[in-house]
Amino acid sequence: MHFVDAKGILTGGKGHFGMNVYRGCTHGCIYCDSRSRCYQFTHAFEDIEVKQNAPELLEKALKSKRQKAMIGTGSMSDPYMHCEEELGLTRKCLEIICRYGFGAAVQTKSDRILRDIDLLEEINRKAKCVVQITLTTWDDRLCRIIEPNVCNTKRRIEVLEEMRKKGIPTIVWMTPILPFINDTEENISAILNACVQAGVKGIICFDMGVTLREGDREYFYAALDMHFPGVKELYMRTYGNAYEVPSPRRKELMDLFISFCAKHGILWKPDQCFDYMSSFPEKYRQMSFL
Ligand code: SF4
Repeated sequence: MHFVDAKGILTGGKGHFGMNVYRGCTHGCIYCDSRSRCYQFTHAFEDIEVKQNAPELLEKALKSKRQKAMIGTGSMSDPYMHCEEELGLTRKCLEIICRYGFGAAVQTKSDRILRDIDLLEEINRKAKCVVQITLTTWDDRLCRIIEPNVCNTKRRIEVLEEMRKKGIPTIVWMTPILPFINDTEENISAILNACVQAGVKGIICFDMGVTLREGDREYFYAALDMHFPGVKELYMRTYGNAYEVPSPRRKELMDLFISFCAKHGILWKPDQCFDYMSSFPEKYRQMSFL
């Protein structure tokens, strides 16, 4: 990893903000979009760029805000990857968010988030906190291949259950669903049943498929060659260089997903999930003097 002084830390601004303390990721998901060339990495994706001044930048930014809002993190790199254990920058930023009474929407695949569960609970008590966990495959052996450097699905479900015990709402990202790999009814049903058991608020699934583009595609195809002989050729024949790579079973799997969520009162429209995560409770919105 290497350290930089960033110029700013918050992005967005229409009522909610985004934040990435790290750039790059060591979780090694074979389908990761963040490694796509369009993001213009000038260093290896696994050579993490650490924004060492993130807490100072965040505190300065929050001090100057006239209204509180939700702050999301984890969209481009996992805030709980390996280096967070020693650096603790995500935790420091959450402490600042908590102190200033803002809300947090944290997305991860890692059980390292449990280290901060008391802090997340406090943010939720003072304002709002939503924890988002990605689940793509019920099969542990497959999970080890497609998401090699992070805890498996069963452990992530335990994380969801721990959040529920603390009253912290959760959203699941059930994406991507890889054609010819995890696009089965058994897999989707098992994940959905676990989501009900864990009491999740919503599930984000844009479609049953994956997106591939330059940079991401080459890495994915190399992993297919290594672990799934013949599947790369099947992708090339079926999809060419398309960005959107839908499962041939998308319709039946989406029907299953939508009807299941509707039956169990789980938010399933992406817009509903995003509205829920980005909306800050009105009664806490005005800044108070600290
Ligand atoms: S955890 Fe997210 S950012 Fe990290 S490699 Fe996996 S998909 Fe990419």
